[in-house]
Amino acid sequence: MELAGLNIKFLPGVGEKKAAVLYEELQVQSYEDMLYHVPFKYIDRSKIYSIAELNGRLPYIQIKAKIRNLKTIGEGKALRMTATAYDETGTLELVWFKGFKFLTNQIEPDKEYLIFGQPSEFNHKLNIVHPEIDSFEKASQLLVGFQAVYPTTEKMKKAFLNSKAISKIQDSIFKTIKGKISETLPAWFIQQHKLMYLHEALYNIHFPENPDMLRKALFRLKFEELFYIQLNILKLKYKRKTYFKGHEFKTIGEYFNTFYHRYLPFELTDAQKRVIKEIRQDCGSGKQMNRLLQGDVGSGKTLVAVMCMLMALDNCCQTCLMAPTEILARQHYATLTRLLDGLPVRVAILTGASKARERRAALEGVVSGEVQLLVGTHALIEDRVRFANLGLVVIDEQHRFGVEQRARMWTKNEQPPHVLVMTATPIPRTLAMTLYGDLDVSVIDELPVGRQPVKNCVVGREYRPNAYRFLAEQVHQGHQCYVICPMIEENENLESADVISYAEILRENLPDDIRVEYLHGKMPPGRKNEIMECFAANEIQVLVSTTVIEVGVNVPNATVMMVENAERFGLASLHQLRGRVGRGKAQSYCIFISTSDKTETKKRLEILNKSNDGFEIADWDLKLRGPGDFFGIRQSGDMDFKIADIYSDSKTLQEAAEAAGFAEQNKYLLDAGRMQMLENKLEKYITEEFKLNL
Ligand code: ADP
Ligand code: MG
Repeated sequence: MELAGLNIKFLPGVGEKKAAVLYEELQVQSYEDMLYHVPFKYIDRSKIYSIAELNGRLPYIQIKAKIRNLKTIGEGKALRMTATAYDETGTLELVWFKGFKFLTNQIEPDKEYLIFGQPSEFNHKLNIVHPEIDSFEKASQLLVGFQAVYPTTEKMKKAFLNSKAISKIQDSIFKTIKGKISETLPAWFIQQHKLMYLHEALYNIHFPENPDMLRKALFRLKFEELFYIQLNILKLKYKRKTYFKGHEFKTIGEYFNTFYHRYLPFELTDAQKRVIKEIRQDCGSGKQMNRLLQGDVGSGKTLVAVMCMLMALDNCCQTCLMAPTEILARQHYATLTRLLDGLPVRVAILTGASKARERRAALEGVVSGEVQLLVGTHALIEDRVRFANLGLVVIDEQHRFGVEQRARMWTKNEQPPHVLVMTATPIPRTLAMTLYGDLDVSVIDELPVGRQPVKNCVVGREYRPNAYRFLAEQVHQGHQCYVICPMIEENENLESADVISYAEILRENLPDDIRVEYLHGKMPPGRKNEIMECFAANEIQVLVSTTVIEVGVNVPNATVMMVENAERFGLASLHQLRGRVGRGKAQSYCIFISTSDKTETKKRLEILNKSNDGFEIADWDLKLRGPGDFFGIRQSGDMDFKIADIYSDSKTLQEAAEAAGFAEQNKYLLDAGRMQMLENKLEKYITEEFKLNL
């Protein structure tokens, strides 16, 4: 059956209006789109909680309770209905903002209901917003073990398209199509890899018979997804190797040598030397280089980039360096101008925030060939940035960019430039090779001499006064400090309010001679740069910031990194943040303030406490989550394929990669039409984030 051609608006219970919302919010239009709108987690509906057991950290749950005190309050937009649910163990508030009119007549006192939703804490009290209510007698068919929960948006909820409604639509699809969903993989392939058939897999994704079937269903869909991604990578690699001819960097000349002998600020580490050599060989080979440079935070990747860029200049090519944030681009620009001060190199900068003059100078300079080295942000990708002769592109913190963006840099010239991407993301090497398929990998596995390992501590809130005293001491010894506050939800006002009020608190608690300033992503770029420049110049001693400074920022005089609510950050983020200190010779410190006493959180922070090695931390992260830990995976939003889940799915990935290699070599797996169809389909459910990690 051709599922892609059937419109969901004709399904029972959908209709024009709901179909329009589904299209608008999820780009779901056909049966096929709908079936690939997969749940983001599953709940065990065989368990009924008592009210006393609830807390604000639980996922979706259900209780069996009676309901009283139904009343509407507020007016206009604030109009809402509240009610109290109660069982023998306690009470709980229920709140509806929309769609409650029909409920008022439905709910009877003294009758038991099955109430389903996600408890949250508001004003120190627990409530459930927009709970689903069913009479308990009728609800017995809901108590069926595993049930899918679908992501929904506000607009969908207003259109009565909650998780339950989506589930019903999925159900009617299966009822309508009756026959099987056509298989997309050849039978021998399915057998060889012990996969579930597509029909069965899709059914179990939406209506899992049991955890085991769900696991198998997930495996099938993930395998197929990863298989096609790998196949695409291989195709790209083939194309690149066959059709792209690289600039041949034949010589090491004046620029490189003068810098190396006269201006290099320190002796290169052996690892830096080795990596530069690898890059030099690659660029000189006549093939186009596409290389990933991995090196932990503070390992000195920037200097490697600089030396390679000088190589490009020696061969009469232009070069550019792209960074993911304005702050980082400005910092690189400052570093490069300083390092290359004695050399006749024209450096320019281009970012989204560049004023007309700067922008013109950059754009005209690169097209005429006058500007040899361009530093910037995503702005470099824009089509109007044209180079006279671009030979090498360096992308810093590449995990922040998409594959597409990287690929677009290839098209800046008729002859594609060499590409060097740099990252500190600790991806185990074997995994990197598979995941990055078409990249060669170089690793800096050594820190510059004289670095002392950062000293860590994980402490509770009550430690704050000591921490403030410690900050003051460090500042009085001439050093500087970062204090990181988490973004509270994605609400911009809350984010800024948080760093602002925290800066206020610090000003009150620290001696007057210490200048405290704050920084967050929503500030005007000019102001951000000003703050960063002042911090780099030690005119500001304590910087209260959100994670805008998470990657790349280099102020070696900073010796303290204090992270508030450390439990809210992932291990990778925390490791990056810690990487902002310990970049000079002085002893540095990292203070993680944790306000959670969940054992899992404690374990996570303990890992950071014990190890400063990014690769080791990544391994621990994997072990802690465990590849087969399917609940853990689900709760982190599995289908999003965030990088951490690439760890947990690394075995699947490996197998899919091998299968793709086999298919590529034998060129007979699938016909082109089917391949295209799958690519389109997969495109949809591979999230941006996953792409970023390619
Ligand atoms: P990352 O790899 O995190 O991008 P950077 O390139 O910013 O690290 O380097 C971190 C710090 O180490 C910088 O202050 C840089 O000047 C310094 N550095 C780089 N290479 C060396 C070296 N060989 N010896 C001493 N310090 C170095
Ligand atoms: Mg860096």
